[in-house]
Amino acid sequence: MANTEHISLNLVATVGGRFTEAPIERLPDARALRAWLGIHGLEIEACGDADLEAAKTLREAVYELVEAAATNRAPDPAALTAVNARAARPSVRPPMVWDKRNGFFLDRTPLSADQALNLIARDAVDLLTGPERDRLHQCEADTCGTVFVASGGGRPRRWCSSSSCGNRERVRAHRATKR
Ligand SMILES: [Zn+2]
Repeated sequence: MANTEHISLNLVATVGGRFTEAPIERLPDARALRAWLGIHGLEIEACGDADLEAAKTLREAVYELVEAAATNRAPDPAALTAVNARAARPSVRPPMVWDKRNGFFLDRTPLSADQALNLIARDAVDLLTGPERDRLHQCEADTCGTVFVASGGGRPRRWCSSSSCGNRERVRAHRATKR
C-alpha cells in the first residue's frame, strides 16, 4: 500500500455524491463488500448482511472522523468511540511461511469479515494520528464530500480521485471564465 493509499479512506469513498439527495452506494450487498475487500487485499471467508451493516457503520464513523480532521472541527464522540473499539480488537497479521518452491511468502489464510473491519479501523487510527492527518482534504466538488490525502508540496489537489469530480468542476470553472 502506498503512502497515501488508505483502505479506511477507500471505504469512505464507497459512497459517492454524499452531498446529493441520492448518494451512490457502491456496496449494495454483502457480495459487493466481499469483492471490495478482496480487491483491497483482504480476502474474507464469508460475508453476510450483518457484516455489511457493520462495514457501513464503520464507514460512517470513519467518515465522521476524517471529515472532522479535514475541516478542523471536533468529531462526534460516538464515532471516535466506535472506531477505537474496533481498532482495539485483535486483527490478524498474516504469518510468513517458507517452502522449497516459493521461499518466504505470506500465509494468506482468509480473514473473517470482522477481522477485516478491525484492520480497516486500525488503518483509520494510523491515518488520523500519523503524518498524513494534516493533509486530509475534503473534495471541493459541492456534491461529493469525500476525504482524501492531498499530496505534500506544491499546490494541493482540490478534488478527490473520482474523475467525475475534477472534470465537472473544471467544466464549471471554464464556463464561468467564458461568461
Ligand atoms: Zn470528489
